[in-house]
Amino acid sequence: MNERHESVAIIGAGVSGLTSGVLLAEAGYRARIFAEEIGQRTTSAAAAAVWFPYDAEPADAVIAWSLETFEVLQELCRDPASGVSMIELRQFSRAGELEIPAWALSLGARSLPMDSIPKSFRSGFALEVPLLDTTRYLDYLAARFKAAGGEIEGGNRFDRLEAVAGDWKLLVNCAGVGARTLVPDPAVEPHRGQVVIVPRIAARYAVVCDDPPLMYAIPRANDCVFGGTNEQSSVREVDPAQTAQIVMECSLVLQIEPPPILGERVGLRPFRRTGVCLRADSSGDGRRVIHNYGHGGSGFTLSWGCARAVLALTYTR
Ligand SMILES: Cc1cc2nc3c(=O)[nH]c(=O)nc-3n(C[C@H](O)[C@H](O)[C@H](O)COP(=O)(O)OP(=O)(O)OC[C@H]3O[C@@H](n4cnc5c(N)ncnc54)[C@H](O)[C@@H]3O)c2cc1C
Repeated sequence: MNERHESVAIIGAGVSGLTSGVLLAEAGYRARIFAEEIGQRTTSAAAAAVWFPYDAEPADAVIAWSLETFEVLQELCRDPASGVSMIELRQFSRAGELEIPAWALSLGARSLPMDSIPKSFRSGFALEVPLLDTTRYLDYLAARFKAAGGEIEGGNRFDRLEAVAGDWKLLVNCAGVGARTLVPDPAVEPHRGQVVIVPRIAARYAVVCDDPPLMYAIPRANDCVFGGTNEQSSVREVDPAQTAQIVMECSLVLQIEPPPILGERVGLRPFRRTGVCLRADSSGDGRRVIHNYGHGGSGFTLSWGCARAVLALTYTR
């Protein structure tokens, strides 16, 4: 059992670092987040971000963490400050009959009738899922972390874990794609994603299709996120050709005129070939380390399940 006020340094201010930070600070840890980039500059801020297991391994653990997160997010919908709400998500296939996965059936997923299938697709199913408005949710997590006594310091880039200075008994590594060089862990791959922000559209539901070309349209309170792309690349600049392709494909599926562009965002999904890394370790200077990185395209979907596992690991030696 940890003592209250034991100190923990968390590396990373994306959704993984902030969620882990909230649970650790609320459990009584003296916690500080160190990160190169914070807030809207992280990959987390570029996400759509809708609850849906995608581009993360291994399947069994991902589904278990995702379902745990689903329950927490459902609760957070009651707090308007969180930026979390429920939305109908319609998942489509271009190829043929889309089988509804068992985890989706357990959440009440239902097949869509043919007259609800856009011309571009062959089949689909619908279910209610949490939608996190990143323009508010990351601020909500940061505020909750600070309210529990946590501190956040941006502008800190570490080339190795031992470079985290100070009397921190425990390090929690939530560096996302940065873990590739920080650990170092060559199994981490940047899966680049680009999205386009457009004005609100009439549809009240999210449209998603993972078959190439990947497309999604996620209506939020004040705008709509059009996506997307998924390629192995660490280029963080916007590609105008991809913006044009995303807007064209989404407009085609939604049968609307191409809308004006309000913004474009790029993020690097921290995919890990050998699966999400969630385990205890020690650094070269003998400090205890808990890794929590490699969530790929599901960082929000996995966030609370993984953060709870981080907290549980602090109680084991
Ligand atoms: C276009 C797009 C759409 C997405 N849509 C969804 C979605 O709908 N649902 C979903 O669940 N997920 C989605 N994702 C995936 C999700 O965004 C990621 O899984 C998640 O953001 C990862 O969060 P993280 O906190 O682990 O990493 P990040 O958000 O990348 O944060 C990493 C943090 O670590 C810091 N850091 C890294 N290296 C160092 C270092 N060496 N020293 C100090 N600090 C360091 C960074 O500065 C940053 O603060 C999407 C991603 C993209 C790109």
